[in-house]
Amino acid sequence: MLTNNVYIGLGSNLDNPEQQVIDGIKALAALPQTQLIAVSSLYASAPIGPQDQPPFINAVALLNTELSPIALLDALQTLEQDAGRIRTRHWGERTLDLDILLFGEQTIEHPRLNVPHPFMRERRFVLEPLLEIAPKAHLPCGTLLAQDLTHTMAQDIWHHCTLTLDSLGSDAP
Ligand code: AMP
Repeated sequence: MLTNNVYIGLGSNLDNPEQQVIDGIKALAALPQTQLIAVSSLYASAPIGPQDQPPFINAVALLNTELSPIALLDALQTLEQDAGRIRTRHWGERTLDLDILLFGEQTIEHPRLNVPHPFMRERRFVLEPLLEIAPKAHLPCGTLLAQDLTHTMAQDIWHHCTLTLDSLGSDAP
């Protein structure tokens, strides 16, 4: 069966964000036909949208999956709902946000799904954790994402804590 390496961006700034992201990673590890391969540290970041909201906790996970892109998106949206996702306003606070950043070498333009994720190159809270686990991460056209870090340096993010697959417990391989 064909498998793809897929990078997922996770973010939360409500209801114990650190635990939301850790539980989100465990839930990714438990998806059918899917293995959790690597996980970044947790990072904290200042909100990009409205400033009157708490800081975010962010991470990036690498999965290997047999799921199709839309099947994976459906699964991620179910996990967001399971986390009791609250969406109050555009770019506002949320319990758990799960984004497909890269899906193998695919470029996807679908009414529900755009990959590579349209904003990933502008967001340091995506690029830092992604490059931590995949320093050579690149777009399907071959462009190295490391080159985008320089123009995101003004954005405020900081290392929060290191995660390991072992520390995530028995759900992870
Ligand atoms: P957001 O506010 O980031 O949670 O956006 C959610 C919406 O973005 C959903 O309706 C998805 O169908 C859509 N979407 C488009 N591209 C992606 C992607 N790469 N990952 C996750 N959701 C996506």
